[in-house]
Amino acid sequence: MFKSMISLLCIFLMWASCTTTQQVVAPAPMAMKKKPSPKNIILLIGDGMGLTQISAGTYAYGNTSHFERMDVIGLHKSYASDNLITDSAAGATAFACGQKTYNGAIAVDQDTIPIGTILEEAEMRGLSTGLVSTSSITHATPASFIAHNKYRKNMEEIAEDFLDTEVDFFVGGGRKHFDSREKDERDLLAELRSKDYVISSYFEEELEAIVIDPSKNFGYLTSSEEPLRLTEGRGYLKDAVKKSISHLSHHDTSGFFLMIEGSQIDWGGHANNLDWVLNEWKEYNEIIGDVLDWAEKDGETLVVITADHETGGLAINPGSQMDSIVGAFTSTYHTGTMIPVFAKGPGADKFNGIYENTAIYDKMRAAYGWKTKPN
Ligand code: MG
Ligand code: ZN
Repeated sequence: MFKSMISLLCIFLMWASCTTTQQVVAPAPMAMKKKPSPKNIILLIGDGMGLTQISAGTYAYGNTSHFERMDVIGLHKSYASDNLITDSAAGATAFACGQKTYNGAIAVDQDTIPIGTILEEAEMRGLSTGLVSTSSITHATPASFIAHNKYRKNMEEIAEDFLDTEVDFFVGGGRKHFDSREKDERDLLAELRSKDYVISSYFEEELEAIVIDPSKNFGYLTSSEEPLRLTEGRGYLKDAVKKSISHLSHHDTSGFFLMIEGSQIDWGGHANNLDWVLNEWKEYNEIIGDVLDWAEKDGETLVVITADHETGGLAINPGSQMDSIVGAFTSTYHTGTMIPVFAKGPGADKFNGIYENTAIYDKMRAAYGWKTKPN
């Protein structure tokens, strides 16, 4: 009894001295202040962009990159539910839905049941959303944020899903899946226009020249098939990124979610073509610079850069110099190495550490401050 009274007294004294100190040093409400949530999240996915791709690009282009402006660095484990080596569909579904699934799955679980995406939830919560890609907009990475399909190659079905989600802005290739379809005669671009979208394509006008009505949703198809390589004349990514941010930040005021994919870093890896990898990476690094310039000024935007997986098993071999990388590939497919994650802005500190690829979804939702899960 006496002993417990002594300890009670001790606790009281500790509490009293604590309170006194707190009052002197910092008022309690300040000490309790919550970390700020971002209003906007921009997720940048360099498809196939492992650490070696980033290293080679950094050395090859002056030993510096915009990645060096990022504050927090983590690593994610990229594997799929059915394979240690993921493909881009399972990889993007992990980011979009927070679940591991099988290779080839577009935002469906292991039993092919559709699962909600962060882009769909953002729409439900009244945010604006956007997708920009240097592949077809129906390709696995962008598709996993907006469509649900048991197999990534069902691109005409994936295109149909663009009518089910009110995505506010999208730019990418693959026009034929919308209006020159094999499975039916539908013209999905006309259907989108009748939903009050402004839809254009490389057929009609240059993206650069378009003045987008901020009150409308906007879509632009950059090619009929897959977009060209950068070095073969593809030139829309910079404009698409600039216009996406400008559109989404003016479209309404409740914030946005934007995914920007550098698709062809992966394709260079599949082709074991280091020049292709480096050229695509160089452009991707430049648009990261543009995104960071805007986000730093904005101050309410979380920027996350990562990849779904590494492609090619690229190594920087002996004999390399800064300006002449001797690259060697071990595979023409993806590999299983852990993948760097870079974050900057409000909520960035959550991305420190080593975690599953699915945690990126949880961390983005936690950063937004979203507590309840949608059904
Ligand atoms: Mg991709
Ligand atoms: Zn690939």
